[in-house]
Amino acid sequence: MAETLLALQKVTKRFDEVTALAPTSLEVAEGSFVAIVGPSGCGKSTLFNVIAGLLEPDEGEVRLGDRVVNGATGHVGYMLQKDLLVPWRTVEDNITMVARLTRRVRREDREEARRIATQYGLGDYLRHYPSALSGGMRQRVAFMRTLVTHQDLLLLDEPFGALDAQTRLEMQQWLLQVWRESGRTVLFITHDVDESLFLSDRVLVMSPRPGRVVADIANPLDRPRTMETLLDARFVELKGRIMHLLHGGAP
Ligand code: ADP
Ligand code: MG
Repeated sequence: MAETLLALQKVTKRFDEVTALAPTSLEVAEGSFVAIVGPSGCGKSTLFNVIAGLLEPDEGEVRLGDRVVNGATGHVGYMLQKDLLVPWRTVEDNITMVARLTRRVRREDREEARRIATQYGLGDYLRHYPSALSGGMRQRVAFMRTLVTHQDLLLLDEPFGALDAQTRLEMQQWLLQVWRESGRTVLFITHDVDESLFLSDRVLVMSPRPGRVVADIANPLDRPRTMETLLDARFVELKGRIMHLLHGGAP
């Protein structure tokens, strides 16, 4: 049984009169891939901001390993919903961005950026600028920037939302490969039910007003996931169940 990496205990967040996040408790096992689905405005990004410490919860506790990290930053790799690359910096310089912002970029940082870019299909583009890359490649660079933070827990907020269906499927398979090889723990927000099932070990379904987790669904689909996964009877059954919940159905 894997250790619990992240634990939320009755975490609440309000903005003035609006409860963006109703008391939320959940645990995430080390090394797992957990997807979060929910309609727009249900508090998904708020949940991530609280976990990352960018927002302080009004109530409750966020634990990472044995530390309480309420309102503290620097303990997760976070790929924001609109994670833009710096257009006047090369791919290599974009990957080493966090080091540049927090300390000096060292030779090891550059070597690491080159190594992972090469390992994951961007080795020929290290000197290119973001404008020369496709949408999928840009998201890979943004993800690599998150990876080199060396955090165990990665928060990915709708990273493939703007990509076309074909590119999205390629990126999903790419992400699963990196996840498997890097041993990280991933929390992944999406509003795409297919994507949540294709990627995850577990799907948390959120409902709007006030945002809360209404279902925690184990995903038994075999890995590695392929095109066949999308046709598996269990995939179709789980998709139906999640769609029902998203449209306000009883669990
Ligand atoms: P999601 O990511 O699921 O689309 P958000 O977490 O961004 O939803 O937002 C949840 C709710 O909280 C929405 O009603 C949104 O308008 C509100 N909200 C989010 N951030 C702020 C903020 N900084 N100030 C005020 N209201 C906010
Ligand atoms: Mg959001």
